[in-house]
Amino acid sequence: MLAIVLIAVPADEATDDTPISIHANLQLVDQSQVTLNQLQELTPKSHIMPSISTSGIVSGYDVPTPDNLVRKNSAPTFKEHSITVKSGDSLSKVLSAKGISPQDIYKVSQADKKQKSLVRMLPGQILNFTTNEKSGELTKLTLIQNRLDSVKFVREEDQFTRTATSRIPEIVQTYKEAEINNSLFVDGLKAGISQPLIIEIANIFGWDIDFALDIRKGDSLSVLYEEKFLDGEKIGNGNIIAAQFINNGRTFQAIRFQTKKGAHYYTPDGLAMRKAFIRTPVDFSRISSKFNPNRLHPIFKTSRPHRGVDYAASSGTPVKAAGDGKISFAGKQNGYGNVVIIDHGRGYQTLYAHLRGFARGTKRGARVKQGKIIAYVGQTGWATGPHLHYEFRINGVHKNPVTVKLPNDDPMPKNDLKKYLPYAQQVVTTLTRSHSPAFARKLAALKR
Ligand SMILES: [Zn+2]
Repeated sequence: MLAIVLIAVPADEATDDTPISIHANLQLVDQSQVTLNQLQELTPKSHIMPSISTSGIVSGYDVPTPDNLVRKNSAPTFKEHSITVKSGDSLSKVLSAKGISPQDIYKVSQADKKQKSLVRMLPGQILNFTTNEKSGELTKLTLIQNRLDSVKFVREEDQFTRTATSRIPEIVQTYKEAEINNSLFVDGLKAGISQPLIIEIANIFGWDIDFALDIRKGDSLSVLYEEKFLDGEKIGNGNIIAAQFINNGRTFQAIRFQTKKGAHYYTPDGLAMRKAFIRTPVDFSRISSKFNPNRLHPIFKTSRPHRGVDYAASSGTPVKAAGDGKISFAGKQNGYGNVVIIDHGRGYQTLYAHLRGFARGTKRGARVKQGKIIAYVGQTGWATGPHLHYEFRINGVHKNPVTVKLPNDDPMPKNDLKKYLPYAQQVVTTLTRSHSPAFARKLAALKR
């Protein structure tokens, strides 16, 4: 740097032509005080030979005179700090440890009092800040929340202005498919589908496929999803746009679509993937007694129809409401022991028996949402072991809860459907174009 200054000092600036005079001028520059910015200003703008401009002045180098450097030297200098937030850290803890005054900490928090990003900073986030080296005053502070979001506070006079910045990652659509030979997880991972994605796929199809019982060797799945990139580097996955599952001779397609009620998955025809009922209202170890209209009762040894299904589960296992509805009965009924009956409207009713006890709020007239815990598995009434006896009735007729065709959730509003159908067509076309020949053959065989 100094060499450049030596060479480039314009003759008219040097009042005395002797080398001694130039040397004396340079000594005014204290190298330790030259900040990075000033050094960068000294760097030639290009390595191209200086050119003569029309005015005849030599350009190509932009070099300040030693006088300029001396003047800049008296300007304030700043110190940069960078801290990774640890658990238990707060803004005042971090800043006061670096000698920032309580007044400055207060001022910067005032600029953030609505958004509270600084109050809510999390371990792993980064705080970069600048102080005036002489006065110790805080001049700038940036909270880097993650690779996309940061908030910057800049001092202006006696207060700070806040600016939030969010970078938008580039979204790329990616297609993957897998054939299941071992398990959904093993083969999914082998095909490069991440574990969270596999779980999401299982949730999308969980209404139609029981992943514990229904999966067969040779089942296939495919997924079209978003990958997020920042500066050419993958930073995560976005949404699943569409997914397909070929299970035991059946095929399912699900497409994500956003309506006023949120984003949900639909069949290409616009039916909700989500059903109005969950198939199994309890996490069970095995089915201990099937639905059987001509069963011999285990205690009475007489022909007594078993009009529900028994799910063996340990005592105290939570029992969930199979669908939205209103509790029409919660109490004791002879053989059933403690029992809950839910009315779901449109002629649907579910019954849960042999319960050990009821969850709080489970009483006649109470409204319940699908999946809400209503009671706990027990063996009250005529039961040989802890299990849930579960019945599913449509217009008073008992149906096999394991096989009954469950009604779809509320249909998409007509206005949304108009937008959805052409979009779904487009997505199906994209899927079809992405299929491997093997996957395409499997689908074609099913259609035949
Ligand atoms: Zn039973």
